[in-house]
Amino acid sequence: MDMINENIRIVKKNIEMACERSGRTVSDVTLIAVSKTKPVSDIQEAYDAGTIDFGENKVQELTDKYPVLPKDIKWHLIGHLQTNKVKYIVDKVHLIHSVDSVKLASQIEKECEKKNIHMDILMEVNVAEEDTKFGLKYDETINVIKEISHFSHVHIKGLMTIAPFTENPEDNRIYFKKLKQLSDEISALQIENVKMKELSMGMTGDYEVAVEEGATLVRVGTGIFGNRNYAI
Ligand SMILES: *Cc1c(COP(=O)(O)O)cnc(C)c1O
Repeated sequence: MDMINENIRIVKKNIEMACERSGRTVSDVTLIAVSKTKPVSDIQEAYDAGTIDFGENKVQELTDKYPVLPKDIKWHLIGHLQTNKVKYIVDKVHLIHSVDSVKLASQIEKECEKKNIHMDILMEVNVAEEDTKFGLKYDETINVIKEISHFSHVHIKGLMTIAPFTENPEDNRIYFKKLKQLSDEISALQIENVKMKELSMGMTGDYEVAVEEGATLVRVGTGIFGNRNYAI
């Protein structure tokens, strides 16, 4: 039984239908398979089914999995990143979704300069203003982006948000709309070295709504790999 394979097929079909409903092009949406807590064998299975974008939220886990998996995997760091861990991942990840301070961006800049590489990042915005979540406040985002835009090895490619946990995905539509609105606003400012190409929003419970509202990157874990067991 190829459960992972079948789940990916279903998620992709749902994304396709959400695109149809909202008049979007399906190739504008990338499915990121969130593999945190899951074994390398699960990732290999998803990879063999044609997935190359994977999301991890912990640096240690990512650097453990990285050397034993195919080199053409695009790793996405989607979890909170501490400045002292930046050096372990800048040469391994395709995109960092969770930058929420000038301090963190400047550390990424420093490590990239050392290694003579460039790093694409997204700014994490706490759109719902939940106390428990990381991310920039909506109103401070533009100023922080302006500061980070001056770095030469770090390139802002869009915005990311983690919407509240909810039973009803419709509850989160307002937050996805707000993030899209902020993205359009920033786009209009035409800040040098800042592109608003990506909107990383939507998880297992709400990715279809997120796609309807303009997501270009959806981060789906449970919907592909099944429930996570944090006890192990
Ligand atoms: C775990 C995680 C996801 C995936 O969550 P699911 O509900 O399992 O799809 C998405 N984004 C972030 C930032 C996560 O930490």
